[in-house]
Amino acid sequence: MQPELPTGTRPLRGDERRRKVAQRRVEELRDLINAHDYRYYVLDSPEVSDAEYDALMRELRQLETEFPELILPESPTQRVGARPSKLFAPVQHRVPMRSLDNAFSAEELAAWAARVERRLGARTDCVCELKIDGLAVSLTYEDGVLVRAATRGDGLVGEDITANVRTIRSVPMRLRGTQRPRVLEVRGEIYLPVKAFERLNAELTARGERPFANPRNGAAGSIRQKDPAVTASRPLRLWCYALGFTEGVTFSRHSESLDHLKRLGLPVNPAMKRVRTLKQAQDFCAYWQEHRHDVDYEIDGAVVKVDALDQQRELGETSRAPRWAIAFKFPPEERTTLVKSIAVNTGRTGKVTPFAVLEPVRVSGATVTYATLHNEEEVHRRDVREGDTVIVRRAGEVIPEVVGPVLSKRPADARPWRFPKKCPACGTKLVREEGEADWRCPNHASCPSQAVEWLFHFASRGAMDIEHLGYITGMQLLEQGLVKDPADIFFLTAEQLGQLPNTGEKSVSNLLSAIESARHRPLWRLLVGLNIRHVGPFAARLLTQSFPAMDALRQASLDELQSVQGVGPRIAQSLHTWLQQSENVRLLEKLKRAGVQLQEEAPEKPTEGPLSGKAVVITGELETMSREEATQAAEAAGARVTSSVSKSTAFVVVGARPGSKYDKAQALGIETVDEREFLRRLGGRRTLH
Ligand code: NAD
Repeated sequence: MQPELPTGTRPLRGDERRRKVAQRRVEELRDLINAHDYRYYVLDSPEVSDAEYDALMRELRQLETEFPELILPESPTQRVGARPSKLFAPVQHRVPMRSLDNAFSAEELAAWAARVERRLGARTDCVCELKIDGLAVSLTYEDGVLVRAATRGDGLVGEDITANVRTIRSVPMRLRGTQRPRVLEVRGEIYLPVKAFERLNAELTARGERPFANPRNGAAGSIRQKDPAVTASRPLRLWCYALGFTEGVTFSRHSESLDHLKRLGLPVNPAMKRVRTLKQAQDFCAYWQEHRHDVDYEIDGAVVKVDALDQQRELGETSRAPRWAIAFKFPPEERTTLVKSIAVNTGRTGKVTPFAVLEPVRVSGATVTYATLHNEEEVHRRDVREGDTVIVRRAGEVIPEVVGPVLSKRPADARPWRFPKKCPACGTKLVREEGEADWRCPNHASCPSQAVEWLFHFASRGAMDIEHLGYITGMQLLEQGLVKDPADIFFLTAEQLGQLPNTGEKSVSNLLSAIESARHRPLWRLLVGLNIRHVGPFAARLLTQSFPAMDALRQASLDELQSVQGVGPRIAQSLHTWLQQSENVRLLEKLKRAGVQLQEEAPEKPTEGPLSGKAVVITGELETMSREEATQAAEAAGARVTSSVSKSTAFVVVGARPGSKYDKAQALGIETVDEREFLRRLGGRRTLH
């Protein structure tokens, strides 16, 4: 059935094709950004640089501007951060905590200022502040006493971190002075000073644990600890920069409210400056870009805010960010240093990555000794050689990277670098698959480097979260032959652990109890720990929501895996292949014998209803409900709503201007229904739950 389009709206064929291509890319970008958000905001463990992330976001924004009909309320461009984790109790923010829009140049800042004054029809004074690279926090004081601290979360609901925030010395438990408002919610940034970050990383490395990528992750990881004693041991600090909900106090200017916060004994950054002209604001940004390391904490930009609060109200906000403020982001910082040598490392999936060993250099507030060179092609494309002076870059980045050599400083005898033919850890001949950029070590069964990286990954915070099982312990367990794969961890005895160097009774019992609790982790964590290519935490969660047991995943067809919303063909194929391989089947059986939970504790019972057991796809715009509402209504009627059409799709709901899913349904001969028929099939389950 061809859906009816209102007359005159049928786009031209070429336009239609462009729109379809755009739609596919928009969906891909949303999935990618959601996955990165999850790693960044929930796991505190990003896997791409901020600059790469910002580029994805900019591309999505551009496509959505060009095709506004593709904007969905749940698009990352329309919201803040990520859904809060379940580790802490949820806190509903009384005034939403928004993010900030960005300007990446003086011109973009000028364009923002022009927009503001045009909307207001008046000139405006601004306040310039440093943009502290930490973790946003909301502190609520009632009658002058700190009663609650919460993270930003998704902007509407954050996590209750009161117990942990109480351990931070610069957060007053009680406000000073006699003029204390009835309720005062203050917003600020919790951060880790650079020196403290370096000390913490040195300690973590010495204990064999993985260091934090940057001070921001250090702060976020320290505050979101289950045990407040751990937070207390980390020297976190606070700068306050705004008010949230208040009762019993009003101000007319933002700068006035900051002065008041200072009087109440709250820490307000002294670099804050009131400006009257755009030029002054640009000068502030330029000055701090140049002097960003004059302070002992990381700043990733400056924030310019309209000062008058009535003007702020008039300008209002979007769902993601206020219109009355803009973040001027500093460009990635670059430094030059010497490449002492180029080496390679075999990772947990066998991927062999080249990296440069550098003469230590300080970049963006941290000392850099290694920098990734990505893969063979990149080394040759950038033509980096041992002995070269190179430009190194790091912008809140996860791993510093080599931008390229300074050719004028190249020694006469520097030779092009050759990728090794064999794995540096086990000597196995490396292989490179057709069309792939990476060399891999195929010896998954016994390459010591893969084994230790896998073990470490399995036990890490983002996977099975086995505290006290760090890099060094992992290496010792492998060297002593006590463990060959992660399942062996669950068979370890106190006697065996006692044989490891430097392990006392206390650490043995700590480790054993950490292992014990890991037996009952949610299934998605195990799936992440199993080291299946392309299956990260985001995909693992989606998969285990649809298939809440390992057996269900094993029995699922490739089509069924692929039809889980947000899971693409690459992930589905990789998981499907992994689950069929005999050594992996053996590993799962061993995990079962070890008493590791291979299903969700209380698998959610699928809702019973007229659409029970049916996979449904929705495409195009519906008239009486949003896409989100339609999905919820279908699920309430027992259906499983998936993002792509496959042979197992029961029917496709087609609204106005449908996307490529409609074509696929036609090609596969899957039934399509219009909105009225869909409502009829819901059998009166329109009510949302
Ligand atoms: P943001 O960090 O760009 O800016 C908003 C935040 O700035 C506020 O929430 C607040 O916490 C903070 N801030 C610091 N000083 C401030 C001041 N003086 N006044 C007001 N706010 C101040 O935005 P975000 O939404 O937290 O994060 C988005 C950015 O995070 C992206 O641009 C990207 O660079 C990075 N990110 C990276 C990844 C990744 O995988 N690498 C993933 C997600 C986000």
